[in-house]
Amino acid sequence: MPDKPSNFIEEIVEQDLESGKYGGRVHTRFPPEPNGYLHIGHAKSICLNFGIAEKYEGMCNLRFDDTNPLKEGEEFVKAIKEDVRWLGFDWDDRLYYASDYFEQMYEYAVQLIKKGKAYVCDLSPDEIREYRGTLTEPGRESPYRNRTVDENLDLFERMRNGEFEEGSKTLRAKIDMAHPNLNMRDPVMYRIIKKPHYRQGSKWCIYPTYDWAHCLEDSIELITHSLCTLEFADHRILYEWFLDQLGIYKPQQIEFGRLNLKYTVLSKRKLNILVQRGVVNGWDDPRMPTIAGLRRRGYTPRAIRDFVERTGVSRTDSVVEYSLLEHCIREDLNKRANRVMAVLDPVKLIIVNYPENLVEWLDAENNPEDEEAGTRKIPFCKEIYIEREDFMEEPPKKYFRLAPGREVRLKHAYYITCESVVKDEDGNIKEIHCTYDPKSKGGWTEDGRKVKGTLHWVSARHCLNAEVRLYEQLFIKENPDEDENFLENLNPNSLIILKNCKVEPSLKDARVGDRFQFLRKGYFCVDKDSTENKLVFNRIVTLKDTWAKLAKKLGSGDKS
Ligand code: ATP
Ligand code: MG
Repeated sequence: MPDKPSNFIEEIVEQDLESGKYGGRVHTRFPPEPNGYLHIGHAKSICLNFGIAEKYEGMCNLRFDDTNPLKEGEEFVKAIKEDVRWLGFDWDDRLYYASDYFEQMYEYAVQLIKKGKAYVCDLSPDEIREYRGTLTEPGRESPYRNRTVDENLDLFERMRNGEFEEGSKTLRAKIDMAHPNLNMRDPVMYRIIKKPHYRQGSKWCIYPTYDWAHCLEDSIELITHSLCTLEFADHRILYEWFLDQLGIYKPQQIEFGRLNLKYTVLSKRKLNILVQRGVVNGWDDPRMPTIAGLRRRGYTPRAIRDFVERTGVSRTDSVVEYSLLEHCIREDLNKRANRVMAVLDPVKLIIVNYPENLVEWLDAENNPEDEEAGTRKIPFCKEIYIEREDFMEEPPKKYFRLAPGREVRLKHAYYITCESVVKDEDGNIKEIHCTYDPKSKGGWTEDGRKVKGTLHWVSARHCLNAEVRLYEQLFIKENPDEDENFLENLNPNSLIILKNCKVEPSLKDARVGDRFQFLRKGYFCVDKDSTENKLVFNRIVTLKDTWAKLAKKLGSGDKS
């Protein structure tokens, strides 16, 4: 037996292994509907399902729950496969499509009709709702409820054959219109939808509902533990009812709490609205909480899995701090991302006493957290760029960066002292003139004098141009859904594009997806919009770890 169970689902699995309930088998599935891209909430379900299979030497299927032709498509199938793989999971040859079971599901429905447990109903969707009753009032029976088996068989076949209009008929389970659980009040099993299916073409014009389809999919695949989110707890009774009536293999449905993240929405429907309205630039916009968006932003699978792990598995929904996600990527990249220098808002700095044509190639360590990361050479010359905000003509107290007459250190290079500034007609600073101390090479002085500020910089004669995209949360409210229209809570500053950035020349070979720490500025990832002439970087996250601070304040250590 592996390590102790780390959550209540693993406890159940272990009990079942012990009692031999499923003959010692553990078989889970991840069942996305291909109607959008996966988001970080799905990552939780993926890690849970594949993780349990891995831990207990079982199997996990990837199954597309593609029973609704209206919004599903191949684009999403492809993206979902890519995302699951990228997260580091493997379904081997166990890739399934619910739509492949349509014929079998139809046969099962015929069986229920023959048992007098299902009937064709002519009530409209509105009428069905009206007849259903409420939590406090029982429903009313449909006038079509007592059709004979033969009549039902005939009508159901004709539904399949396309003889009836959309919305004019449904197949319903015949259970109990007074049942305290509304899901048991003769739920709909099939409705007529005259739209082609992306895999089945026009073969079908009746499509199964989630409740009817999902239990069959799990049963057909001999799933042992069918893990789903809490909103399905009230449906479990129906899940079991269907399988009991058919007398077929019955997996165990277990519900767990949904993952939610502050300052974002996690619903494919809403994410789709963001994409369709052009609020973001596609499903993989780096601001999106989709796996594709996080990947493009620069998140690593390791950080996402770590995040999911820390949020735990519980029986209640949770809303997690965004800063925890950011903390996880910082922890990962701190160890693995090379440090480089980039100036996002450049101002020119001239070292007046430095020889005009001299270029020195200085040593710079790649990652102080990783001894094996080594060093690289960076060019230093008379003209460099520093960050505009690293100079102030009239600095307030506690401003330790460059100012007239003040000495600071240039990282990996020399001590410099500001002598004067040159301004344009409008009074903007055009150049800062400094002298350097030739005896301070490497950033250390002979006399051991100290300075409070250390600045990053790049050689103005060697640097590369870059575009840098800075991101903030997509929404200004912790819970964007708290207002009727979540779009009213969009953050107008969620994307800021800096087009005139300068980065050190060692980045000339950087590839799309490469990640770096820009000293003092955060972690950045090369975006796919990069061209031959211009690198484009996404800021993954700043360096300031607000999660660590928060955790300290709450006294909760490192865990959520
Ligand atoms: P959405 O509401 O975002 O469309 P969904 O549940 O409809 O999500 P599915 O494609 O049906 O999306 O989900 C596949 C699996 O992922 C399901 O088992 C579902 O319960 C799980 N899942 C979806 N969202 C979350 C979440 N926020 N946290 C944990 N699991 C989730
Ligand atoms: Mg769904």
